[in-house]
Amino acid sequence: MSVKKNSVTETLYAKVFTNQHLLENILSYLSDDFSKNLDVRLVNKSINNTFLRLIRRNHRTMKIEYAYNVKDIIIRPKDYIYINYRKIKHQDVLPYFIFLNTAIGVKVQKITARKLWMLEDEFKRRLHGLIHSQLIGTNGTHIQTLIGLEEACDGCMKCSNIAQKCLEYGPVRFSTLQTMIYSKNYKKLHVTDKLFEDIAEYCISKSKNKEECFKELDETILSTISCDKLAIWINECRVLPNEETGPNPNHRHMPREVIDTILRKWNVKSIKLSMLHITNEILCSVEWLQYDYFTRVRLNDPYSETKQSDLKFNHVEVSLSYSFYCVKNLGNRELIESEYRGYDNFIPNIRRIFPTDRITMDLSHWFAIADTEIEKKMSTILQVVTIEKPQKLNLDMKFFVKSGIVKKFNEETNKEELLGIAPRYVLQEKRLHCFKKSSPFNAEHGPEVFLDNKWIGRRFQVEHAENQFNFNLDVYIKEKELEEEFNKELLQIYQNSFVGTFFIKTI
Ligand SMILES: [Zn+2]
Ligand SMILES: [Zn+2]
Ligand SMILES: [Zn+2]
Repeated sequence: MSVKKNSVTETLYAKVFTNQHLLENILSYLSDDFSKNLDVRLVNKSINNTFLRLIRRNHRTMKIEYAYNVKDIIIRPKDYIYINYRKIKHQDVLPYFIFLNTAIGVKVQKITARKLWMLEDEFKRRLHGLIHSQLIGTNGTHIQTLIGLEEACDGCMKCSNIAQKCLEYGPVRFSTLQTMIYSKNYKKLHVTDKLFEDIAEYCISKSKNKEECFKELDETILSTISCDKLAIWINECRVLPNEETGPNPNHRHMPREVIDTILRKWNVKSIKLSMLHITNEILCSVEWLQYDYFTRVRLNDPYSETKQSDLKFNHVEVSLSYSFYCVKNLGNRELIESEYRGYDNFIPNIRRIFPTDRITMDLSHWFAIADTEIEKKMSTILQVVTIEKPQKLNLDMKFFVKSGIVKKFNEETNKEELLGIAPRYVLQEKRLHCFKKSSPFNAEHGPEVFLDNKWIGRRFQVEHAENQFNFNLDVYIKEKELEEEFNKELLQIYQNSFVGTFFIKTI
């Protein structure tokens, strides 16, 4: 067998190695030196075992995403995707995957797909097939996490078959949910607001009255499934069919009893809410709204109308990385009326629908980082998160900012000034840092590689002991911007500036 296998491998090597661009891309993970010295290394088309092993290791986790410059939202160039943050042309995907599968023998454990639904139909179908055949395999022996693939197929047999093998899976389309009649504890399942609608409408279609409808609901969500963490994807920009006054993108009502039934029967312990600006489930189903069977909830509805749940969760994590409106509204009180979307109800509503003592949020964006002044921003955030005078709540917020918002140009003196820290916040000793992949997307076609930026953070705390309320606002600034954009004299003049806290050696 080795003769045959060797010759297949040889052919594949030859295919990949003759594609200079693809090979450079794969190898640039491993070492910049290596990709620069390719020609030297590739004499005899041989590659040393260390590098094969490194490639195998670097592909245990794969992120396969379509990304584009937000400014190109209309023309969206579509001849590439990003695989592990590297740009790969469509025609290179097949040899890349076959190389990984056959020559490298990758054992992919985690695949995260993003925005594949935006690709052209033919390529999307081919990519979905290749991910199954080359990376997962029919038996799914190694796969543990599969996220976002059903967005490419809208739910299929191959995907639902793999769903059963994973520890983390989703978002689950309704057709996949119907196959989940086995018994399994998931670490994490992902669902969407659209799935809640689909479930409600299915139960209505199968019943003649409210009682039958809820019986159907009980039979649709099975308690043989459990999941430690439920990730709920909520689209911020859904529209109603035939909206008469023109589309008014917003959150839409969700059937509360469907959510509660899932939380209860799946024995959910903690929640992740992902607010998304764009998904392929924009259009709402409105059939269920014709019936008064289900209570309608929205996270941005007035919280006084939201019924308090008797469930309890360890933790609610809110991801705003792909949000537009929620991010914008949470840090901005000066909205014109047409822009107001009620996001100040967000935290009080979370505490009614998903009761918890611990909420973490990230206010981050790699394409539209908040702009206005830091002092104002911090005050507004505090105003929003304390709107209800919360009791027994630990709230941690990560806030990624552009360095420009910590200073201001004074037109009268013609000089730059550094802004201060908003009142009530107390600087904590803790020093923070993290790395985030981001891309500048200056060019129409996006960069070849997503950059890994180091962010430096400082923690500012607001505490209300009586109410057992503790709020940590962790503000992050790119290390590069800190190094390049602040001079010593200015920091000397503004001793108590916000950004000065990033330069204090010890406190
Ligand atoms: Zn599928
Ligand atoms: Zn409402
Ligand atoms: Zn670290």
